[in-house]
This record gives sequence, C-alpha cells and structure tokens, in this order.
Amino acid sequence: MTTTALEGFHLYDTTLRDGSQQEGLTLSVADKLAVARLLDELGVTYIEGGWPGAVPRDTEFFARAAAGELTLARARLAAFGATRRAGTAVEDDPQVAALLDSQAPTITLVAKSDLRHVTGALRTTAAENLAMVRDTVSHLVAQGREVFLDAEHFFDGFLHDPDYTTSVLVAAHEAGAAVLVLCDTNGGMLPHQVTEIIEDLRARLEAAGAGDARLGAHTHNDTGCAVANAIAAVRAGITHVQGCINGYGERTGNADLLTLLGNLQLRMGMELVPEETLAETTRIAHAIGEIVNMPVNARAPYVGASAFAHKAGLHASAIRVDPDLYQHIDPRLVGNDMRMIISDMAGRASIELKGRELGFDLGGDPALLSRLATTVKLREAKGYSYEAADASFELLLLDELGRVPSYSSVESWRTTSQLGRDGTLETEATVKLRADSAGEHERKVAIAEGNGPVNALDLALRSALRERHPEIDEFELRDFKVRILDAQHGTDATTRVLVRTSGRGLEFQTVGVGPNVIEASWEAIYDAYTYGLFKSGVPPLALGGDGGAGGVSA
Ligand SMILES: [Zn+2]
Repeated sequence: MTTTALEGFHLYDTTLRDGSQQEGLTLSVADKLAVARLLDELGVTYIEGGWPGAVPRDTEFFARAAAGELTLARARLAAFGATRRAGTAVEDDPQVAALLDSQAPTITLVAKSDLRHVTGALRTTAAENLAMVRDTVSHLVAQGREVFLDAEHFFDGFLHDPDYTTSVLVAAHEAGAAVLVLCDTNGGMLPHQVTEIIEDLRARLEAAGAGDARLGAHTHNDTGCAVANAIAAVRAGITHVQGCINGYGERTGNADLLTLLGNLQLRMGMELVPEETLAETTRIAHAIGEIVNMPVNARAPYVGASAFAHKAGLHASAIRVDPDLYQHIDPRLVGNDMRMIISDMAGRASIELKGRELGFDLGGDPALLSRLATTVKLREAKGYSYEAADASFELLLLDELGRVPSYSSVESWRTTSQLGRDGTLETEATVKLRADSAGEHERKVAIAEGNGPVNALDLALRSALRERHPEIDEFELRDFKVRILDAQHGTDATTRVLVRTSGRGLEFQTVGVGPNVIEASWEAIYDAYTYGLFKSGVPPLALGGDGGAGGVSA
C-alpha cells in the first residue's frame, strides 16, 4: 500500500478533557502531565489539556505545563473553553481571560450550533449566539492564538435546522477559526448520515463564501460507530479528527484515537505518525491505562492483549508458514504480539528499547537480555506490570546486572490494627532492619502509628532509615493506586499497587504485588526509597542486598 505523508492532518487527543468524563476516571495533575508526555511520544498533533478557569485542576495543569514541567517535542497544547457568556463583553468574561492565561497556543472553543440548545439551554437568541461565537473567536485570534471551534450538537442541529447550524460555522470561519469541528455530541449518528450531512454542509459553506473552511470531527460511540463515523468524515474530506486513548469518555466513550490511528495509517495509507512511534502504540496504550487506572480492554483493536491472539485449535505451524493469512496486519507494526507463537522476540525487543531509554545498552549482551525477558515474563504472570513503573523496571535490570543498590537489609515488618473502646481504629507498624556499613552492624527497630496500616509502615520505615539516610524525608509519596487482579490466579485475587513518588528532583513510579494490599504496598514503597536514594546520588551501603520482599502482616 502506498502511504501519503499528511503533514497537515490533525490527530487531536482529548483524553485529558472529554476522556476524563468517564465514570470512575479521575486524574491528578501529575497523572495528566504523565499522560501528556506519552501522547507527545506517540506523535499526536494536539493535546487538549482541559478546561482552565472552569476546573481548578486543569488551571493548575496548564500553569505547571507553562512553568516547564511539560516539554512537548511534537504536539501542541490546546485549552478547551466556552464562548463568552450572553450579554457580556468578551473582554470582561473571566472564563475567556482564563483561556488566555493558560498560555496554551491553541484554544478550542465550544459553541452551541443546534438552535434548540441556544434557546433552551443557553436561553439566549439565535443572533446573540452568533455574536458570542464571532466575538470570542476574533478576540482570541487577535491575541495571537490558534482557535478551533467545536460545534456542539452539530449533526443533530443540522438535521433540525441546517441554515442556523451552518451560520454558526460561517461566523466562526469569518472570525478566523482555523478548524470547524463537527461534533456528534449525543453520539447517535451512523456513517452514511455523517457522509450525507458533510456533503450537504460543504455545498452550503461554498454558497456562503466559506468553501475554504477546514473541517474536523468529534464523535462519540453511542451507536458503536464513533470510529466508523470519524472515518466517514475523513472520506468526506475532513482533515482533523478528535478522539481519546483507549476510547475513554462518558457513556460509551469517545472515538478510540488508537483504533482510528491504526485504521487511517495502516488500512488507509495515511502517514500520521512515524513508523517507529506507531510501533510504540501498544506500550503507550497500556502505560496510559495504568496511569488512569482503567486497563486496556483485552479485545481492543490493535492494542488489546487478544487483538492478535488465535484460537488454540489453529495450528501454530500453519501460522508460522504464512502469518499474513491469519491476521489483518503484522502486529509488530503497532508493537503488539501474536501470542500463539510464543515469540520471545517481541518481548526482548521492547525490553531492549526500554533499557536504551534508561541508558543501558542491552543489545550487546543477548544472554542478559534473555534472562531479563524471562524475569519480566515470570513477574508479569504474577501480576506485575512495568508499563508505568519505570523505576521498578530499572531496579530489576540493575538486579540482573548484580548492581542493585541496598540502603538496608530488612529483618521483618508487621502491622497491627486494633479497635479502641471509643470505636477508633488504631494502626501501628514495626519495622526491623539493619543498616550495615564498614563492618559495623547497626540494627534499627522503629515503631510508628499511622492513619491506616500502609501509612504506619511507611512512617516506621522512614523512621528506621532516617538517621543514616536523612534524605529519605525529602521524598513524598504522591499517589497510590490499588488494583485487584482476579481471574489470573483462579480464586486467589492478587493486589497490584502503583506508587508515584517525588523528591530530590525526581518523579517516578514503582510497583508492588502481593496477596494483600499491605504486602504489595510495602514492596512498592521500599523500592521507591531505594530507587529515589540511588538515583539522586546517595551512596548505597552495599550492592546486591535486598529488602523488598518478605515480611509478615497481622
Ligand atoms: Zn465530546
């Protein structure tokens, strides 16, 4: 298939704004920054970071991004917001000012384009809504921003009153909007309707002197057609598609941007991201799934664990003869694996790549690479996941090299919880460890009370390490994610804990797995301090020690 490079085509991600509307999905500012970095790595054209001025966390996200916490190599950052309020001058609208304050180079303005919503929800007139669009777009353009217009309820509005809906788009175009985004906000459209409506709209725009307007599509999956509708829109000539990683979004979700990317690039020959980054799609999908704590659906196209898995009845040998007969693309193009041929190649390649990112050249040592690949595979079978836990992966790698740093050697730990007479639960932890150096044995026993067993353990561990390593107090456990993994182990559920730690100029994640949350947390926390101390230059006591495992909990 021939590929055409499409410099100008926009792959616009709205995971951090529309995607975060999904039930049960909450993102901290650190999560948002981490997701944005992965989106940039993937090579999307735009990252919509949120709604500054309306959502405090989003205001903070843009402030921290502007302060240098987010350096984007490819993507541009977009802020989302509404047109000025009815009856207010655009200069006096605090929400519009917040969009400018966000310092985002691109602003995506949502505007009502269905007359029924203008009169019913906005409670204003058709003419005032047009003025709101015109004023806000031209005000932001005059301030040097690139402005996109999200025409909310575009498709339903067009079916109801095409003249009015078209006039909203023409107003935005005349005021300088760079893209007019046609939104299927309720998600009820089907592909043939999308095609017909866009054709009709084109003719109307032409007639209104706006034939050169650039169009985009924002689709929801309520008919199961979000991706199909976006493709229909592309076939009808739009050059900007919006979607969310892993199809996150409220109700049935937004168009899955990764399915869309796979389809457009691999099935339709549009070169949207470089081949090398396309091969990172699966890793990035899963890493974002870990960060937002919503694992990738196993049956997700391209990136799901089952996307290229075959029925056991199909002979592995037949697939080996000509795999193309049994799959729609080579899974390696998107970094996925054809699971039936138990191929170590894919696993090794991604480990080698990850090693290189961390500054280790593993290519020169095939024996080490294969040991590491086996260890990772065994640990993943136990429930570990390294996609988002780079720090734990690096410790594993150092361990294989015999260079894992040790700051103590743990003898034992325990936690107890006791219900007091007044009905309050008291939790306490004891940590016993040795911090040996230069032949001296230094045994430490620390007891701490905490707000829950994990907190008590963390405090006791810090207390035991503090004297020898006062740097420990410069680290802060920022975020803590717990996931119960079932099905993998029959009736025994396993717990995976992901901890994000910051301090001494670092921010990193570690993972712990165990039969219960306390044991899994202990491992993740212990690894976090080991990694943090080591990477920030605190000399270890010894190499090769261990403390991450073991312990009892009561
Ligand atoms: Zn939406």
